[in-house]
Amino acid sequence: MKIAAVIVAAGRGHRLGEKMPKQYLPLAGKTILRRTAEVFAAHDAISLIQVVIHPDDLSLYQQSITGLDLPPPVFGGTSRQESVRYGLQALKEHRPDLVLIHDAARPFLSHELVNRVIAAARDHGAALPALAVTDTLKRARDKTVEATIDRNHLWRAQTPQAFRFDLILDSHDKLVTHNLTDDAALVESMGHPVHIVTGEERNFKITTAEDLAKAERMMRSNLTDVRTGYGFDVHAFESKGEAVILGGISIPFDKKLKGHSDADVALHALTDAILGAIAAGDIGDHFPPGEDRWKGAPSKIFLKEAMRLVSEKGGIIAHLDLTLICEAPKIGPHREAMRQSIASICGLDLSRISIKATTTEKLGFTGRAEGIAAQAVATVRLPEECP
Ligand code: MG
Repeated sequence: MKIAAVIVAAGRGHRLGEKMPKQYLPLAGKTILRRTAEVFAAHDAISLIQVVIHPDDLSLYQQSITGLDLPPPVFGGTSRQESVRYGLQALKEHRPDLVLIHDAARPFLSHELVNRVIAAARDHGAALPALAVTDTLKRARDKTVEATIDRNHLWRAQTPQAFRFDLILDSHDKLVTHNLTDDAALVESMGHPVHIVTGEERNFKITTAEDLAKAERMMRSNLTDVRTGYGFDVHAFESKGEAVILGGISIPFDKKLKGHSDADVALHALTDAILGAIAAGDIGDHFPPGEDRWKGAPSKIFLKEAMRLVSEKGGIIAHLDLTLICEAPKIGPHREAMRQSIASICGLDLSRISIKATTTEKLGFTGRAEGIAAQAVATVRLPEECP
């Protein structure tokens, strides 16, 4: 049986007060859309995933799904219903038997839920996950109750909703002028029964800022595999110069640091610390110093790649602690600017970046002001099931 999934991600969703649509907001290091797509991509029964996006979001989408093997997205329409129809039409040539239609803003669905809706759609043609209403329901006007509604027989509908492909495509094609908020409603309008399976409380739709905070807490609570990495680097001074690059910022100085890249010893130590925490080799493995393309390169490229590798494992950086060792230049006056710079390169809160500086009391090569050494410790949190 061939089973496809349509992920609806074309909404504007500015209700959260953020600059970008909510499906592209990060959730513990990956976008909400990516987390949702990964659940389907990891499910053995689903062989095709069609994402429907807003045309304005193409570059956000492409950044969001890097490395996932998905067909090109389809552009949505002016309503959710229209967007789903375009997604279904794109699947026509693949002739799936069943299709699951899911909101991108519900990243917490489980594979058990996917299995339940697939089984029910196979047996009944149309199925949706839902939860019984447990709160007492009131109908009110101007904040005055008019009636108490009998909550028996009332359900809260979720997604993914699953259908025989020809049934749902036909319903969408025939009921173009309806504007319904879920796909089951179209099938119902066609007079076809829709079977209910038990939904999941955790499969909520991220709609408000409160939902987003709750989602972030849920995602982080799974990051229980805490690992630590250590990095160390040294760069020597060249006799003449105007500035050194440290922590991604330029610090005026009468010498510069020698190196193949921009010689940012601080970012090199941090990059190695992060790579160490995920046992991913060292900076030289990823960016061989013999390669011309890294000549004079800004070292934030290296740090960003290390961050990307952590994200790829579904992990986050809990903390970065950097110690700079030199007689000069003085680090103190630039410390806050360096923290800001590293926080911005890594997309981390300032409270997770620590910078300390020390001298070696005029002893050794740093004491003789021949160069700068940096030590870094990175604390990384990975998902429990991470290999
Ligand atoms: Mg280096």
